[in-house]
Amino acid sequence: MQHLLDLTLEEFRDACVANDRRPYVAEQVLDWIHRKGTTEFDAMTNVSKSDREWLKAAFVIFRSRIDRAQVAGDGTLKILLGWDPPEEHSEDHSLPQAGQSPPLQQTETVMIPAAKRRTACVSSQVGCPVGCRFCASGLGGLEGNLTAGQIVEQVLRLSEEEGVGRITNVVFMGMGEPLANDKAVMKAIRILNADWGPAIGARHITVSTVGLPKAIRRFARFDLPVTLALSLHAPNDQLRRLLIPWAEYSTIDELTSACQAWFLASGREITLEYLLLREVNDRTEHARQLAKIASTLRARINLIRYNEVKGLPYQRPSTVDVREFQRILRRHGVNATIRASRGRDIAAACGQLRHEARKQQTES
Ligand code: SF4
Repeated sequence: MQHLLDLTLEEFRDACVANDRRPYVAEQVLDWIHRKGTTEFDAMTNVSKSDREWLKAAFVIFRSRIDRAQVAGDGTLKILLGWDPPEEHSEDHSLPQAGQSPPLQQTETVMIPAAKRRTACVSSQVGCPVGCRFCASGLGGLEGNLTAGQIVEQVLRLSEEEGVGRITNVVFMGMGEPLANDKAVMKAIRILNADWGPAIGARHITVSTVGLPKAIRRFARFDLPVTLALSLHAPNDQLRRLLIPWAEYSTIDELTSACQAWFLASGREITLEYLLLREVNDRTEHARQLAKIASTLRARINLIRYNEVKGLPYQRPSTVDVREFQRILRRHGVNATIRASRGRDIAAACGQLRHEARKQQTES
């Protein structure tokens, strides 16, 4: 069965025509899914019975099951999605095939509410190949790429949860390195942005990368005006290599130059993400070095206070140290904001919920 959410309107129309169905069935079905919030073919009353029977035999709308859901005191919602094995979806070859499959395919998705915004933080891969030393997502390495449909499904799953409603913003800051799966990520962005789909404005979509210079240059040619965020996390190559194994493959200078190419091609400034780890990258000299990079790029900086992960040695810095770091950046003329910590009372750090679920399965 084919994953319906993996198709663009055009591809869906083609599938209808190829099966002797009228092409407008595609519009009808997508209207039910994205405007009326229905994911049951049988509830699509303006679709003929014969078309519904065909749809049920040929397509699946949701591929995932919700393995866990947690709501924090501040309204942040985190869901752990379990994915059916790929052999049941013959069109999908991106996840490991039968025989080499891992015990359980799970990904995390988070919804962060703020005033009228509902931001979905989505995963682009199962696990992560980068293996940042401070992150729970990279602990088990990469298990597979997500398809465009699996990325879109995360957004729909969130909006189906009680009290969430329409998702207004999407950030690719969950599990995985989006530019290591850029084909699926770009297709997912097209679907999420389409007026026949969830219609999320491209300017409300942010792709966050740990930095692959070639992929950044390629992504600069993408025709939708999304925002690019570079997860820098260290202001010099030596420290960056200690924290991010993939920093071995490219220097900060190479990344800076790729980001400048992005700016020239897209006309959009980038954001630098900087995760503050206590006594690791939060010292005065780090702030000064970071200010220099931000000035070169004319980038704004998003400072993020670390959420501790059980079993990892890194600590959350104090409020005083974070404010001082921000003050130094601002003194150097850099626009630096501190991201509000959300969902601290649930396993908020990226990959932590999945990591804990997996540990429990192994122990039981
Ligand atoms: S921080 Fe991002 S890039 Fe690094 S291991 Fe975690 S998910 Fe991967």
